[in-house]
Amino acid sequence: MNASAAIEELVIANRVIAFLGLVDSFGHITVRNPENPARFFMARARAPRLVTKDDILEFNLDSTPVDLRGLKPYSERFIHGCLYEARPEVLSVCHNHAHELLPLAVTKTAMRPALHSAAIIGHEVPVWDIRDQFGDTNMLVTTNDMGRSLAATVGSGKAALMRGHGSVIAGKNIQDAVFATYYLRLNAEVLIKAMSMGSAVTYLSPGEVNGAGELHSQPSAQGRAWEDWCSQAGVKLIS
Ligand code: MN
Repeated sequence: MNASAAIEELVIANRVIAFLGLVDSFGHITVRNPENPARFFMARARAPRLVTKDDILEFNLDSTPVDLRGLKPYSERFIHGCLYEARPEVLSVCHNHAHELLPLAVTKTAMRPALHSAAIIGHEVPVWDIRDQFGDTNMLVTTNDMGRSLAATVGSGKAALMRGHGSVIAGKNIQDAVFATYYLRLNAEVLIKAMSMGSAVTYLSPGEVNGAGELHSQPSAQGRAWEDWCSQAGVKLIS
């Protein structure tokens, strides 16, 4: 994939995550530049549903812009730059405030997969609390120090919840990032509903997480969902 195709897929991904309700007016998805891994593409500060090709900007991994063209960048671009900096194999990052997962971000409830399709989130999703290191803030990740702290909590994992805020997902590509974001939210919804029934949740075993996680990392699984979501969102697939 070249940079132009990556930008095209990024625009589609913005529409898809908005359609799926994974982001509201806030939240963002990015892709590493396939022609220059020291840079990534991200829209200007705009609701994802409205993003077009002309909104896409390029940033260095320290989240300094290559050329803003007079446009306003997202203040939380450091979430993305710092994950790309820490994880060379990560090619797409999604940051969201998906409403349905927020109860898990404001309680000490462990986010572990209870569904086969959610195994892609890994054995347990850690919670990053901005206050631990940075005290009282406006809760936004607006510096490289904050972004690196968050990336350290993600570690080698797939995702982290952000206390009182949302989540971040590290993808091997755009489709993987969207897929994991979707099933992270579904896992949260199922946990919350199951717990409200008053029954103990049976989580996947470590072996099940490995097996089902591998299965749902395959392009055959992720591509089926992607094709369907693009169709539902009314956007044209790129081949
Ligand atoms: Mn945010």
